[in-house]
Amino acid sequence: MNKKLIDDYKKFLDNGKTERECVVQIAKMAEEIGYKDINSVESLKPGDKVYIKKMDKAIALFNIGTENIENGMNILGAHIDSPRLDAKQKPLYENDNIVYMNTHYYGGIKKYQWTTIPLAIHGIVCKKDGTKINIVIGEDENDPVFCISDILPHLAQSQMQNKASEFITGEDLDLIFGSKVPEKEEKSKKKEKNSAKKIILELLKDKYKIEEDDFLSSELEIVPAGKARDLGLDRSFILAYGQDDRSCAFTSVAALLENQAEKRTCCCLCVDKEEIGSVGATGMASNLFENMVAEVISRCQNYSELVLRRCLANSYMLSSDVNAAYDPMNANLFDKENSSVLGGGVAFQKFTGSRGKSGASDANPEFIAKLRNQMDNANVVYQMAELGKVDQGGGGTIAYHAAKYGMNVIDAGVAVLSMHAPWEITSKEDICQIYECYKAFLKIDN
Ligand code: MN
Ligand code: MN
Repeated sequence: MNKKLIDDYKKFLDNGKTERECVVQIAKMAEEIGYKDINSVESLKPGDKVYIKKMDKAIALFNIGTENIENGMNILGAHIDSPRLDAKQKPLYENDNIVYMNTHYYGGIKKYQWTTIPLAIHGIVCKKDGTKINIVIGEDENDPVFCISDILPHLAQSQMQNKASEFITGEDLDLIFGSKVPEKEEKSKKKEKNSAKKIILELLKDKYKIEEDDFLSSELEIVPAGKARDLGLDRSFILAYGQDDRSCAFTSVAALLENQAEKRTCCCLCVDKEEIGSVGATGMASNLFENMVAEVISRCQNYSELVLRRCLANSYMLSSDVNAAYDPMNANLFDKENSSVLGGGVAFQKFTGSRGKSGASDANPEFIAKLRNQMDNANVVYQMAELGKVDQGGGGTIAYHAAKYGMNVIDAGVAVLSMHAPWEITSKEDICQIYECYKAFLKIDN
């Protein structure tokens, strides 16, 4: 067991609960070992190390190899967004003395899992004058936390008759934000309408310099409050928020930073928006990655579009993303032989998609054979897995967006139990194996 890796991973999770917080950490980790912001670099030669950020929500690291970049790179590609609740743009309202924060969920969640647990708010508020206010409330033990209430069982007769997808609706996922009523108003019994909200707004202005209108230009993410914990008496598991996909993002970054590129240029890409279809300027469906690679090529040699296309098409990529762990409590949903078990090492997924491989990027067996050889030589423990039973559902990753450039790509990550729940479960041994897998992958030189 690589104890330092596990400790660093848990710290990364604690300090990286949003994509922006992850980008800050990744840039810092990279700078500490000599990576430079590409904007400060005019030309690149073998051995050089640079990073490129996109809107502070995506980042790629490049370590230049000795071979012409036209021959392709070894790319680790992960995502750093996770399912959560986002504050709406006009979030605060008062209902019978309780001030609520109205939310819109992000990504695939089981809504009922988000009630009655302590929640924290992370994000930024942008002021008209261009200043950005960073917000983290609910992580320090002296901080208050927030919570979505649920009806007591004594009065839940009709709620319990509803389908699980309906008994807490998206519009019900509103956070209790405060309820302060000024003392003198209480005494006079002459309460103003919206008086609790007024007090909350004054607090926000005092403490954070935020006016109500500033929420219009805010990006506030509501996530489970608290730190990553060891799970199980033998501490073999980790219980933490956001392990899809920060388990793979962290280990990909760590593997790249540990590696020294030889022939092939090595790259680690951490993108946003995977959980909602990789859309948007910071998602993999945009041109962000090819633009980044173009910036790198233009500093290595005379730039041409043909070189860019060849570079991408000749690249190998591990789509560093998690897989659903085989769940003994729901064994009927899995084809056990073709599932990834917790503690079973790296989970390779030849294809994702759903029902007849729809939407899949199906990895080539020639590429898989190359990976098997590399993994076996590095003593990496791995399993080949599908998400679940054929007709049960499915999912996608960034693999098929990378595949459109014509590169060889396969999903490789760890198995996660309770994926997309507020607290997800991984095996420490798998985290160690995936790190070794990514390091071995970066060494592929033909
Ligand atoms: Mn994922
Ligand atoms: Mn996911």
